[in-house]
Amino acid sequence: MPLIPYQICQNCIMDTSDSLIAFDERGWCDYCNNYHENIVPYWHTDERGEREVMAQIDKIKADGRGRDFDCLIGLSGGIDSSYLTYIAKEKFGLRPLLYHVDAGWNSQEAVNNIEKLVDGLELDLYTEVVNWPEMRDLQLAFFKAGVPHLDTPQDHAFFAGLYNFAAKNKVKYILTGANYSTECVREPLEWHYHASDLRQLHDIHRRFGTRPLKSFPLAGILKFKVFYRFAKGVRVIKPLNYIPYYKEAAMQELVQRFGWQRYPHKHYESRFTRFYEGFWLRKKFGYDKRRAHFSSLILTGQLSRAEALERIAQDPYSPEQVKQDFEYIAAKLGITEAELQAMFDAPNKTYRDYANMMPVMDLGAKVFRVLGLQRAVMR
Ligand SMILES: [Zn+2]
Repeated sequence: MPLIPYQICQNCIMDTSDSLIAFDERGWCDYCNNYHENIVPYWHTDERGEREVMAQIDKIKADGRGRDFDCLIGLSGGIDSSYLTYIAKEKFGLRPLLYHVDAGWNSQEAVNNIEKLVDGLELDLYTEVVNWPEMRDLQLAFFKAGVPHLDTPQDHAFFAGLYNFAAKNKVKYILTGANYSTECVREPLEWHYHASDLRQLHDIHRRFGTRPLKSFPLAGILKFKVFYRFAKGVRVIKPLNYIPYYKEAAMQELVQRFGWQRYPHKHYESRFTRFYEGFWLRKKFGYDKRRAHFSSLILTGQLSRAEALERIAQDPYSPEQVKQDFEYIAAKLGITEAELQAMFDAPNKTYRDYANMMPVMDLGAKVFRVLGLQRAVMR
C-alpha cells in the first residue's frame, strides 16, 4: 500500500488517518466543503426551522389522537437522545414512548440518565434486553474477524430493535437525536462501517460465531430504508436539526433539571464503546473517532481548533482505566486477557474482506440523492 504523506485540514482536524480524505487548494478537507455546500444552506435553526418542525409536530399529534403515545424515541442515555426526549415532551408537548435496548454494556451514567428522565418527565419506557449469549457470540465474532467496526453488533441491535418495535406496534413516527450540530462530520466508512449491512453481519457471524442468532434484533438496510418507510409508513424525524442545539448548554440544562450525569466523551455512555473507541480503534488501527466529533464541534462553532488539537493529543482515558477495562471486557466476553491480546495483535482487516452490500448501498444512495431524499455525500 502506498504511504500517504501526512496532512491535516487547515479548518477542522480531520487528517490522513482517513485514507480517502481530499484537500482543496486552501488545505480544507472535503468534510468542510461538504458542510458548507450540502449542509449549511439547508439547515435552519431560526424561525424558519421552528415553523418547519412545528408543522411536523402538529401532524404527529393529530395522527396520534386516541392512541397511548404519538411517537417513539430510542433513548441511550447519551446527550443527543436525552435532550431530544426532554424537548419532545416539554417544548413540543408530544407524548413519546421511550424505547431502550440494553445490550449488556450500559455505564452507570447511562442507567442513571434514563431513570432520571423517565421519572422527571413522567414518561413510559420499554426496555428490550438483548439475549446476552447471542450478543457475546456476535461481538466475539467481530473481534475474531479483525475488522475495525466492532461497534456493529451493538449499533445494529439499537436500530433494528427500534425499527422492528415501531413496525410491530404500528408506530408512525420515530424521533431520533441524529443531528448536524454534533455530527456534521461523519466518521469515514473505513472507521465506522454501516451497522445496517446485514449481509456483512451474517457473513462474519457464519465464519466466526458459534451459536445461532435466535432472538437478536435484526433488520437489513432495505427493510428499514424501503419497506418500513414506504410499506409500513414509518417516518423518521430529526427535531434537533430545527432548533438551536449546543452540546455544552444542553448538558448543563439536563444536569440542572434532572440530575443528569455527564460522561467523559461522546458515546462513552456504553462501557464497551469507551474501550473500543478510546483504546482499541486508536491503538490497533490509528483511527480516533474524537477527530470527527471535535471537527463537527469546530465547524458548528462550539470548540476552537486550537483546543481540539490540544485535546486530541491527550489520551481519552488513563492507562489504569484501560487496564481495568481490558480485564473487564475479556472477562465479560468469556475469554482470557491473553486471547483478547492475541486478537489485538492479529492482522487488521476491513469490511471489504467480508461479504457486504456496498454496491447496493452506493446505488441506493444515488437513487435517494436523485429523488432528493438524501443530500449529503457519504463515504
Ligand atoms: Zn476539514
